Amino acid sequence: MNSFQTLFQQHSWDSVKQSILAKTAQDVQHALQTSKRNLEDFKALISPAAMPFLEILAQKSQQITQKRFGKTIQMYVPLYLSNECQNICTYCGFSFDNKIKRKTLNDQEVIAEVEVLKSMGFDHVLLVTGEANQTVGVPYLKKVIQLIRPYFSHISMEVQPLDETDYTELIAEGLNTVLVYQETYHEEDYKLHHPKGKKSNFQYRLETPERLGKAEIHKMGLGVLIGLEDWRTDCFYTALHLDYLEKTFWKTKYSISFPRLRPFSGGLEPKVVMSDAELVQLICAYRIFNEEVELSISTRENEIFRDNVINLGITAMSAGSKTNPGGYKVEPQSLEQFEISDERSPAEIAKMIQNQGYEPVWKDWDMAF
Ligand code: SF4
Repeated sequence: MNSFQTLFQQHSWDSVKQSILAKTAQDVQHALQTSKRNLEDFKALISPAAMPFLEILAQKSQQITQKRFGKTIQMYVPLYLSNECQNICTYCGFSFDNKIKRKTLNDQEVIAEVEVLKSMGFDHVLLVTGEANQTVGVPYLKKVIQLIRPYFSHISMEVQPLDETDYTELIAEGLNTVLVYQETYHEEDYKLHHPKGKKSNFQYRLETPERLGKAEIHKMGLGVLIGLEDWRTDCFYTALHLDYLEKTFWKTKYSISFPRLRPFSGGLEPKVVMSDAELVQLICAYRIFNEEVELSISTRENEIFRDNVINLGITAMSAGSKTNPGGYKVEPQSLEQFEISDERSPAEIAKMIQNQGYEPVWKDWDMAF
């Protein structure tokens, strides 16, 4: 059976990068006008040649998004359960070599945090942990899902990659969505940024979406950490991965995020800086390439930027986020994984969304659907 691994090996990083840079204005016009787009069209849409067409990209992206999703923005919030981690990742405040106080929430603390999130109106929660199998392995995740299931209709998870049987077990408990970002598809740079721990296994991470598809997850999220490598090439591989997964696991839904490297304690400077205009270009390119994929933006981005991209293709947004375990109530002063840029409350963000003529959607999923 074919796998993404086979497809991945057929695309060399350097030739992909060169072919994106070689795209012309004619290629961009073709990508905008054609009714059936392929990965060559996506390359044209993210190329430097598309930048003069940004306004047209934005209009097209808006029109496609409103046709498919209406004027709605799904609201979600991260719940950091633990900052314990045995991996070294050069860009993360929770990295094993970072001397910070470690904390994993117990049952009472999870419920205390959940009560705050419920009082803010959230019905979709994203569980986040580092990778520490002794403390936050599958048994811990299973227990937390059982504990919070009565409070949320949509449970997402962003934790270490797991085996297919683990996903099957957690899905049976009520897990709906898993986010697993490749960080970068550049294999050598991946190894530089993940020198120690299980996360240093590039292959295992690359194959995670495949295992999720086999476990029949409802939705999975893909993406790279923008700033580690050339964003255009990395995002081409994300689109390649998405395209493969959609064709192979057609029952699953997909979302994409585009986190830009943020400052944190002991921080890494981005190798490649992406401007705001380039991030707008990328959002529009993903939407024009794929009308079904959900596009999500977190509080890493600042308020002005988030306000401005609401109507350009985004379909989901976090709000009021804390990126430290216990950040909502239990230990609000502890060290965050990265600095939040948009610090407005969920109510303020919901108001901003309404002021733009959009509806904030707190409940987007029900087991009964
Ligand atoms: S990115 Fe994840 S795996 Fe890496 S150090 Fe941070 S919490 Fe651990």
